[in-house]
Amino acid sequence: VPVSRFRNFSIIAHIDHGKSTLADQLLRWTETVKEREMKEQFLDNMDLERERGITIKLQAARMSYTAKDGEEYVLNLIDTPGHVDFSYEVSRSLVACEGALLVVDASQGVEAQTLANIYLALEQDLEIIPVLNKIDLPGAEPERVLEEIEEAIGLDCSNAIMASAKMGKGINEILEAIVHLIPPPSDTTEDPLRALIFDSYYDPYRGVIVYFRVVDGKVKVGDRIRLMASKKEYEIDEIGILSPTKVPVEELHAGEVGYIAASIKAVEDARVGDTITLASQPATSPLPGYKEAKPMVFCGLFPTETDDYADLRDALDKLKLNDSALSYEPETSSAMGFGFRCGFLGLLHMEIVQERLEREYDLDLVVTAPSVIYRVMLNDGEIIEVDNPSQLPSPQEREVVEEPYIHLEVITPEDYVGPLMELCQGRRGEFKDMKYFTPTRTTLIYELPLAEVVTDFFDQMKSRSRGYASMEYHFLGYRPNELVKLNIMVNNEPVDSLAMIVHRDKAYHVGKSLVEKLKELIPRQQFKIPVQAGIGTRIIASAHIPPLRKDVLAKCYGGDISRKKKLLQKQAKGKKRMKAIGTVDVPQEAFMAVLKLE
Ligand code: GDP
Ligand code: MG
Repeated sequence: VPVSRFRNFSIIAHIDHGKSTLADQLLRWTETVKEREMKEQFLDNMDLERERGITIKLQAARMSYTAKDGEEYVLNLIDTPGHVDFSYEVSRSLVACEGALLVVDASQGVEAQTLANIYLALEQDLEIIPVLNKIDLPGAEPERVLEEIEEAIGLDCSNAIMASAKMGKGINEILEAIVHLIPPPSDTTEDPLRALIFDSYYDPYRGVIVYFRVVDGKVKVGDRIRLMASKKEYEIDEIGILSPTKVPVEELHAGEVGYIAASIKAVEDARVGDTITLASQPATSPLPGYKEAKPMVFCGLFPTETDDYADLRDALDKLKLNDSALSYEPETSSAMGFGFRCGFLGLLHMEIVQERLEREYDLDLVVTAPSVIYRVMLNDGEIIEVDNPSQLPSPQEREVVEEPYIHLEVITPEDYVGPLMELCQGRRGEFKDMKYFTPTRTTLIYELPLAEVVTDFFDQMKSRSRGYASMEYHFLGYRPNELVKLNIMVNNEPVDSLAMIVHRDKAYHVGKSLVEKLKELIPRQQFKIPVQAGIGTRIIASAHIPPLRKDVLAKCYGGDISRKKKLLQKQAKGKKRMKAIGTVDVPQEAFMAVLKLE
């Protein structure tokens, strides 16, 4: 098939609008995957993705389609992850395409993620084909949603396709639109090789598998390649296409999408966004847009059993092979002992790593509350970065503390505008703008500190809008603020892992509610436990956890066997995620208490 009959595209959509279902239908229609091999949602193949219904890692699939004009076309679908934490990966996978299907749920309408993805696609000059999905639903309002798309993005929707991915309606129209509207890649096969890495993962047997799009030139088995950003060189062991399982081929040309295996040791050496060229005939400049992923959110990970420290380190080493965005370094806490300070792209990334450590590596962990990176200017003018609140220099040692700010867009039905503005204002948000695309839907634009969003902002937004609002954000820069360190003492010992950085105006309120929350969460002991919050040497809030009463214990030794059993089971379960701090056992929830303050 000549390059003029190649089409590279991706599907952009807000979560749950039907991207995976549509991708499945395209694979089915083109008979890329046999019906009996067709697992539901072939493209989301990680367990975690399936359970959470999100796409974390992008994948690609090559289909062969004979169009109504009688010609055979090769269609490469490049799937994109559907979460703000991974927007850099989305942007790279879009660069690998000439067009995109914009899937919008006809019963819902334009959401924050839809918009964010469209902006990325427009930046790359992609041809966008609007698809209104779920038109089979009784609540579908295709007319209204079309208007919304035109209004919000100014996209011409006269050729929009009405589809039901679930019922298989509109699939053929979509395939025809891909063939006729999306331009073919330009044929630059004679130029020096430049191929864009849009995904990679670590395979324990073969090393890193790299997914890429050949932009210029050609590449074949046995070629010695050079990665232009990491400056490493490798010989290609295998090259192939994804249909969607790996099928080896001899050679790939400009415009094609495929994978290589080249005994690469860690994904760090073949990062998303890097350019592959030939060692013998290198391109003069790499493809534009390469960025190293920078962790934005940090937390401490501590094994509940001190003996598991080495296992935790091994597990992190292994995860890192597959995740170049994960960062970690040893952390010693006076309260928690030995652990690691880990950096993540965002909250979802953090949750995914924690979950994998616990599931795949069978570790029991205590995780401290997420923090952002603060920039601190010391008295002598030196600027340091602080990702651990307990390490904030004292006011005597520092001049200025700066914190990261984000640009936030929330899209919501009008009814929830009030409560959502209240939420943003309560999180130190600065109101920027409010836009209406339709009489019933509104976009709120705020600038606010990232620290206020990495707590429970998303959950609050969902609950205040009954699930109807959606949000997207991007990093703006650092801004100075009156920030102070809040120290927490349990049983008269400072617990460094509970320390947090808060705005001076909120310190008293946060200290008070945190102390009350800890009082609920820390189990009673035989003795009275004081819990205090302070700034410097000044105590601003305190409470006591009363001792266990003797009669409560005594009752357990009575005749009620089942109750005693239940109690023991409960204790055993709770024990798993507890950390002994001095003589007091502090449960996991206590470290996350700051996320649940009213
Ligand atoms: P994704 O998050 O964009 O990948 O969305 P999915 O493809 O996982 O779909 C989300 C949900 O919508 C699933 O329960 C699908 O079965 C359902 N769904 C997808 N397409 C349609 C459709 O055309 N009609 C209806 N009624 N449901 C659909
Ligand atoms: Mg999906």
